[in-house]
Amino acid sequence: MQLYSRQILLDGWDIEAQEKLKLANVLIVGCGGIGCTTAELLARAGVGRITLIDADTIEISNLQRQIGFTQQDIGYYKSEVLAKRLKQINPYIEVEFFTEQLSSSNAVHLIAAQDLVLDGCDNFETRYLVNAQCKALNVALISASAIGFKGQLFMVAGDSACYECLFPKRQFSDESVSCTETGVLATTPNVIASLQAHHALLYLGLNQMPLLYTLLLWEGLTMRQRFLRFDHDSNCPICQATSSANAV
Ligand SMILES: [Zn+2]
Repeated sequence: MQLYSRQILLDGWDIEAQEKLKLANVLIVGCGGIGCTTAELLARAGVGRITLIDADTIEISNLQRQIGFTQQDIGYYKSEVLAKRLKQINPYIEVEFFTEQLSSSNAVHLIAAQDLVLDGCDNFETRYLVNAQCKALNVALISASAIGFKGQLFMVAGDSACYECLFPKRQFSDESVSCTETGVLATTPNVIASLQAHHALLYLGLNQMPLLYTLLLWEGLTMRQRFLRFDHDSNCPICQATSSANAV
């Protein structure tokens, strides 16, 4: 109660909302610039069970923005180091980690148990896979990405429009769009991760989904935030598959 007292004090956030956080299972895909911050905020807020997955080890170039890591952690697995940090921050939650990539062989097992998946990974292939599995298993997803001075965020849940509706695979498969190629300011992924974690708390505690059918775009040079409404793409194979499965 003391640990979460400032939250429970909030108008509109009571013990019931806090209990919902405690019971929640959340998977965080990618423990980089976005995943580090999102995971830490959810651990501090009291999300009861957090699972981390990332196959990468920590490199010196990560430390500029990935706030879960220090110089001493270089060479170790990101998910393992981050899991240890979360337990130090909040020993009252459960934390699990996987030092592998999310793939078609482990995705169903990992995602089926979740109430919410938070994607902050660094490649399109994983993003499409996460979206497809969340849709198929009817698990909510909040997808966040950041590059350069820009970030974006939206939510997928139930029969809402999905990642592939917004970014059809045939148009968005350019893997050269990455931090390795393009660069990223230290703050950009942390702004977007904070918004992602915030949305996760709204959803888990209060069942609110302001970013359903809505893409939030954050433009770091002007500090403007815009909202782009989007709908189902009638050609989206993921939504077609899930709507026909529901019809059966
Ligand atoms: Zn879709």
